Amino acid sequence: IESMLKSAPYIQWDGNQLFTIPKGHIEGMRSSASFYANKPLLKQVLKEMLENQANGSKGGFLSAIQQLSNVATLPGVVSSSIGMPDIHSGYGFAIGNVAAVDMDDDDSVVSPGGVGFDINCGVRLLRTNLHERDVIDLLFKNIPVGVGEGSVLGQADGKVSATRRAWRELSLYAQELDDILRRGMAWAEERNLCWPEDREVVEERGSFEGADPDAVSDRAKARGRNQCGSLGVQSEGSGNHYAEVQVVEEVYDEEAASAMGLKLGTVCIMLHSGSRGLGHQVCTDAVAEAEKGISVVDRQLACCRIKSKEGQKYLAAMRAAANFAFVNRCLMAKAVRQSFATIFERDEKELGMSTVYDVSHNIAKVEEHMVDGVKKKVLVHRKGATRAFGPGSPEICDKYRSIGQPVLVGGSMGTCSYVLTGTAKAMESTFGSTCHGAGRAMSRSQAMRSLDSRAVLKEVEDRGCTARVATKKLVAEEAPQSYKDVSEVIETCHAAGISRKCVKLRPVICIKG
Ligand code: 5GP
Ligand code: MN
Ligand code: MN
Repeated sequence: IESMLKSAPYIQWDGNQLFTIPKGHIEGMRSSASFYANKPLLKQVLKEMLENQANGSKGGFLSAIQQLSNVATLPGVVSSSIGMPDIHSGYGFAIGNVAAVDMDDDDSVVSPGGVGFDINCGVRLLRTNLHERDVIDLLFKNIPVGVGEGSVLGQADGKVSATRRAWRELSLYAQELDDILRRGMAWAEERNLCWPEDREVVEERGSFEGADPDAVSDRAKARGRNQCGSLGVQSEGSGNHYAEVQVVEEVYDEEAASAMGLKLGTVCIMLHSGSRGLGHQVCTDAVAEAEKGISVVDRQLACCRIKSKEGQKYLAAMRAAANFAFVNRCLMAKAVRQSFATIFERDEKELGMSTVYDVSHNIAKVEEHMVDGVKKKVLVHRKGATRAFGPGSPEICDKYRSIGQPVLVGGSMGTCSYVLTGTAKAMESTFGSTCHGAGRAMSRSQAMRSLDSRAVLKEVEDRGCTARVATKKLVAEEAPQSYKDVSEVIETCHAAGISRKCVKLRPVICIKG
């Protein structure tokens, strides 16, 4: 590690997993920047930085390390601009960057790029009473895993026509858009579109306060109207969204796993999607507005004072988009439950298809955290980072309060995913945050150039996972090789203590939008 750091001698290493870029590394830093890594992950982050330096930040692209330091220049930033082990270059903020600004400082800003274009992109995990040995054959026979318009488990025809019917019904419901934007899952619950116990295990109970549909442009509403309850096929589907049937392959923490209803062999379904075109437009609108305001070191870090009219409007629109995303995942869960009920000719309740948890990894939230020994109200930007509140936090539902908040982390199609729990250490050192995925190892264009889609699909298949991807181009972009090794990321978070390993999930069917 020390020899690797010769290429970036300003980075200080604590001898474990923490790397610090001191305040003063670039002009205008108001706090330090820092990131978590182990040897292989550090190598990848530095490689990205050196390649970027070598081509003179062509096209305005900055490396994650540069972006971390730039974020530390934003007005109001406290403590440190922190990178999770899955960090990689993003729009303004790196993906995997957590930064908090002081709510009591009038200069503090909110930056739309610190939340990202897919507002409240997040993951929901459903469990079942089904055991792998009893069901996989039946699933393969019955789920036509093609990808079609608004489908959840594929083009639903034949035996699972219920899915298609359900989807039609759901897009009708989505006409009541303003109500969805204002009330999130409270809207869904009222219409029996979820189980009564679902909201308990969704961050913010699936309903952000302070959401204002009037802050969302007509264009954003038009883009989202027919997309509620879908992964991301069509338009801004860049293939990173998925519905995946998974099996619990390893249990690391019996107590936590049992609280979540997870045992070796349990069949689960992981859903990853966000606010679709609606959130994307909310971000686009806010960036255009913010670009007219405060000057920043990188144009993509456009931001506005939290207390300004624009700042308040963005936060109200962001919360509305977040509510849309909660309902999106909720409606997909409904369609998944219906498909399983049809396939197994059993009731969804009997199948035990409860929600394990649903958590965002692209959001800004007002929270209280200790900063330099003082409790402070801060706005935490989590961009490609997951909330990971420790045991005892009042924000966690009763069921999980003693084990810590469940954290859902996707890996890639054909490798594995994880469930973790939040820790007290995360509360102290990362504003209660941890990683959200493996993180990209290659840019989309690099992946397209260097990987053959047929070979990738075969390899995924050989590992025991059947994948259906919306377009061929996405196969390479989404190949396991395009991502970092998720297990390295998880081991780093576990060793650093910012989350604890609970279970590992192996994919058997992956549908990507
Ligand atoms: P993001 O929200 O940053 O686009 O993606 C989050 C993470 O999801 C990625 O870093 C990657 O590790 C993971 N991921 C992407 N595609 C898949 C997939 O098909 N299956 C699973 N399980 N994880 C995936
Ligand atoms: Mn997303
Ligand atoms: Mn995401």
